Amino acid sequence: MSVFGRVAVPLKSRSYDIVVGSGLLADTGKLLKDVISRPRTAVVTDANVADLYLADIAKSMNDSHIAFSEIILPPGEQTKSFDGLMELADQLLSARIERGDTIIALGGGVVSDLAGFSAATFMRGCKWASVPTSMLAMVDASIGGKTGFDLPQGKNLVGAFYPPSFVLSDPNVLTSLPARELRAGMAEVVKHGVIADKELFDLCAKGWKPVTETLAELVRRGMAVKVKVIEEDPYEQGERAALNFGHTVGHAVEVVSNFDLLHGEAIAIGMIAEARLAERLSIADDGFADTIKEVLFGLNLPVHIPENLSQDQIILAMNKDKKKSNGLVRFALPVRIGQTRIGVEINNLGSVLEERK
Ligand code: NAD
Repeated sequence: MSVFGRVAVPLKSRSYDIVVGSGLLADTGKLLKDVISRPRTAVVTDANVADLYLADIAKSMNDSHIAFSEIILPPGEQTKSFDGLMELADQLLSARIERGDTIIALGGGVVSDLAGFSAATFMRGCKWASVPTSMLAMVDASIGGKTGFDLPQGKNLVGAFYPPSFVLSDPNVLTSLPARELRAGMAEVVKHGVIADKELFDLCAKGWKPVTETLAELVRRGMAVKVKVIEEDPYEQGERAALNFGHTVGHAVEVVSNFDLLHGEAIAIGMIAEARLAERLSIADDGFADTIKEVLFGLNLPVHIPENLSQDQIILAMNKDKKKSNGLVRFALPVRIGQTRIGVEINNLGSVLEERK
């Protein structure tokens, strides 16, 4: 082999602003004006969110003299698919979006994952900004740059790390979120509490009514945990994997339920199964899984794998998990509130689903 020369290519990781504030949606145009440097912009959203908030965004963009196209996708996880991606690409072409133009993702995690992935790949790269409207998207999906879509075989199997240029979160929009969706989003907030913030965990433990009265604070704290983790490890080479607590079992259960379970509901179930695994491996003290279970139960989240889901199929789905290394599925397991052990490799996946009472 002959090498003609070698050049080291410096890559700087880009920083971006995240702003959170009640009522900020009305200022979208003003806040995004500096991010949008080119004439064409597309606002990508789903039909539910479009009905509620697209007019507000349109007014704010018009007030700031930002021209934009609207792209409205069907709501639901099924949109985060290859077909959904093709539909979005088709509409971006119709909107004459070019390389470097800005895509604004207005919606929950489905919209931000798919629009973010389109931004990473359409015309070899557009800018994107995220305006998350669900609890889950505010505290998790919109931050950190993980984008992608599902394959029939499993969740998020195609994706890219591609951070947005701006994130704008207005907790006021959570008041229109269906209660089931808000509860599901709270599962990720509880997870953030477990892995990194005892006070956040305690806030979640107060139960459903107090939670609905402190949404802005929960968003702020939940986001802060995610930001801190990704600042230290943007490409999940180490500690970021702590965010995967509950997700190995959770993703499998979500897929096997055929998405009857919402993502957050599946993660709640996954956290309990994985916390019990941590107890069995003497990584966590006995009783720790029950402490988490009580909090999730208080928020009316499911904590058991539904009986109609086949254990064999869940094991098969876990085996397709992308957190695999050397053929072994890796778990992020809690040690105690604020501490997680990452990269725990499990040989016998059947043992993961054993319930210990
Ligand atoms: P979602 O995007 O499907 O939104 C949930 C539902 O709520 C949808 O019907 C939507 O139309 C509706 N909705 C959203 N905001 C609303 C509002 N303010 N008022 C009324 N209705 C509203 O689901 P989600 O829970 O936001 O996100 C789940 C997705 O996020 C999953 O695909 C999951 O894999 C992904 N995710 C990604 C990351 C990441 O780091 N990229 C992290 C966690 C989850």
